[in-house]
Amino acid sequence: MSKSTVGLLGGGQLAMMLAQAAVPLGIKTLCIESQHASPASHYTDVWVAETLDEALIDKLINTCDVITLENENVASAIASQIESVGKLAPGTTALNTSADRLVEKEFINAQGIATAPFVAISHAQDLAKAADELGFPFLVKTRRFGYDGKGQSKISNNEQLATFIRDYDGSPSVAEGLVDFDCEVSLIAARNPQGECVYYPLVQNEHREGILRVSHAPHDNTLLSDKAQALMQTLLKALAYVGVLTIEFFVCGETLVINEIAPRVHNSGHWTIEGAHTSQFENHLRAVCGLPLGSAKAKGYSAMINCIGTLPSPSVVADEPLAHLHDYHKSARPNRKVGHITVNGEDKGQVDEVTKRLRALV
Ligand code: AMP
Repeated sequence: MSKSTVGLLGGGQLAMMLAQAAVPLGIKTLCIESQHASPASHYTDVWVAETLDEALIDKLINTCDVITLENENVASAIASQIESVGKLAPGTTALNTSADRLVEKEFINAQGIATAPFVAISHAQDLAKAADELGFPFLVKTRRFGYDGKGQSKISNNEQLATFIRDYDGSPSVAEGLVDFDCEVSLIAARNPQGECVYYPLVQNEHREGILRVSHAPHDNTLLSDKAQALMQTLLKALAYVGVLTIEFFVCGETLVINEIAPRVHNSGHWTIEGAHTSQFENHLRAVCGLPLGSAKAKGYSAMINCIGTLPSPSVVADEPLAHLHDYHKSARPNRKVGHITVNGEDKGQVDEVTKRLRALV
């Protein structure tokens, strides 16, 4: 059965691009968000609410055919309330697994899939154990609410360890060994309730200071691509997943190590708006609405450049024939993703050249 009103928890740029994709499909969206001038508010109806409570969610349930999210950090009571009436996609298993780095890693390892080596941290003495087991340097990440490198510390020697232990406030964390990777790639897939799956091509991602800077698609490597799809299939099945799922990998030779999974549309999939036959946003909506999925094949080559802090002049971007600017309607702020540019064309050399010029602007 197709669904016609999709509720979105959160009104950031991911919700904004879902709302944009909904229009040509004849799908209505309705978003709940704490801010008045959110990115999504430029494209869809928004209920502004500081916090989500049971009564508000009941109202949303009665207004929407299905409810989805742009952020896995929704309170589990809220997710369960929506799931209990069969209107949540993806489901609580996927959300609860991916919202907690420790639960996520244990789940991935339980499927026989590699992650970075890790040690659970809840007491100061666990940090000394992590240093013993992982060696220096290692990372300490908060189990919940970390993104774009936030909530992460690198510990490189005994002195830094002693300082970290002295200041440690007991927040549940996970220590991770540093993976010596060749590059980072991600795989995005969509699955509908009927079990139909589509896989986007593998994407290569460049991060700096924990923030995604540029994605290149497709990353041509049949061996890695086949391996990544097999791992994706395992996770989609284990989570009985509905919607778009993203896996971020570290590539070590011919081995794929999972960094993390995201139960939602993803920054490394923004290129699909211009660069794939069906965008990740459209396929997510199709999946949660129980519709057949669209082709995830790439059209030529794409690069997606994140605009971090400030947006470049729209006229400069418009002057590049292969470039498409996406403004998130956010105010400028250091390290804030305020937009992105997708460069798409048939000639990889030309895409690379334009990308190089535009990178210099952001
Ligand atoms: P995260 O927020 O966990 O996705 O981390 C952001 C970025 O930090 C990753 O994309 C990597 O570039 C880097 N990073 C995170 N964890 C590790 C790790 N265990 N080893 C090496 N690099 C890492």
